[in-house]
Amino acid sequence: MDLIYDILVIGGGPGGIGVAVESKILGIEKVLLVEKSDNHSQTIRKFYKDQKRVDKDWQGQSVALDGNIDFFDGTKESTIDYFDLLLDNHLIDAKFNCEVDKVIKMNDIFEVYTNCGNFLARNVVIGVGRMGKPNKPSYTIPPSLKTQVNFNLDKCGNNENILVVGGGDSAVEYACELSQSNKVTLCYRGANLTRPNPTNIEMFDKFVSEKKLTPKLGIDIESLENEHGKVKVIYTDGKNQIFDRVIYALGGTTPVDFLKKCSVSLDEKGEPIFDENYETKIEGLFIAGDIAFRSGGSIAIALNHGYRIVTHILNKD
Ligand SMILES: Cc1cc2nc3c(=O)[nH]c(=O)nc-3n(C[C@H](O)[C@H](O)[C@H](O)COP(=O)(O)OP(=O)(O)OC[C@H]3O[C@@H](n4cnc5c(N)ncnc54)[C@H](O)[C@@H]3O)c2cc1C
Repeated sequence: MDLIYDILVIGGGPGGIGVAVESKILGIEKVLLVEKSDNHSQTIRKFYKDQKRVDKDWQGQSVALDGNIDFFDGTKESTIDYFDLLLDNHLIDAKFNCEVDKVIKMNDIFEVYTNCGNFLARNVVIGVGRMGKPNKPSYTIPPSLKTQVNFNLDKCGNNENILVVGGGDSAVEYACELSQSNKVTLCYRGANLTRPNPTNIEMFDKFVSEKKLTPKLGIDIESLENEHGKVKVIYTDGKNQIFDRVIYALGGTTPVDFLKKCSVSLDEKGEPIFDENYETKIEGLFIAGDIAFRSGGSIAIALNHGYRIVTHILNKD
């Protein structure tokens, strides 16, 4: 507890890594990154399919990198390797399997409470992402269908009849990937897909025209039922279909309870309040990455947050 870190970063995703690496590059030495899982980048490891194409301009957002960390198109694997390299090259002090419970500011110093001990820091950056709790549909998922209703591809096999639900890049990528070895339908409530980037729209159109993928656009789902162990999907037009598996790709939720435990002020929609430097109402407490970006951030955006936060901290000192 004696050591006071200049910056303690909560979460080892692109946002947290960006802060830690920029700090070292810009000359801040006493930096600690704490990650609750056994390795960094859990969203990438858990929600990206193997060999997934990683686009720098995710969701069609063209992003110019502001800081010292480069980022480029690649794959899930090359992106993880790249982050490994950044952490190694810049000798980032990282604690894994270390989950932060809460942060309290006392006399200008933050006390960070974790399951691997408590730490002191002058500045704390919260970069815990949104995928700790993926978005769920408003209707109830029958508990008996827990194995067949998923939020990533971990449980998928081959030769299944699968419904992917969602209208963004991840839904399109999941659907196209699964359709290589399964019968796949993509359901989205909008009449057209507008959110995915041009590459994914093109891929979607190609798969549909080659009849590898069935689109079900402009219709929503009313409820799910268990039909002899399979998923009966009931649509808002009263029709239904039976699937072996349903996969929701609807993004993630704001970790409201955690933010409250860190005393971060929230707006009326439950989103964190912060200024142009990502600083919350508590001086020295920052928000980085997806939780600072309402409609789905990206790796490049998260890296830019890190640069902005670290330069702001340096300018204050
Ligand atoms: C399926 C899918 C595909 C995507 N494809 C792309 C793409 O091609 N290109 C792109 O730019 N973006 C892509 N994205 C978006 C990108 O992954 C996110 O924008 C990015 O990961 C956000 O980084 P982050 O650091 O904010 O959060 P995350 O990456 O979610 O990292 C947060 C980290 O914090 C840790 N954590 C959570 N709570 C605690 C706690 N209490 N204590 C300690 N640690 C904690 C988590 O374990 C996690 O490792 C994709 C997202 C998804 C879901």
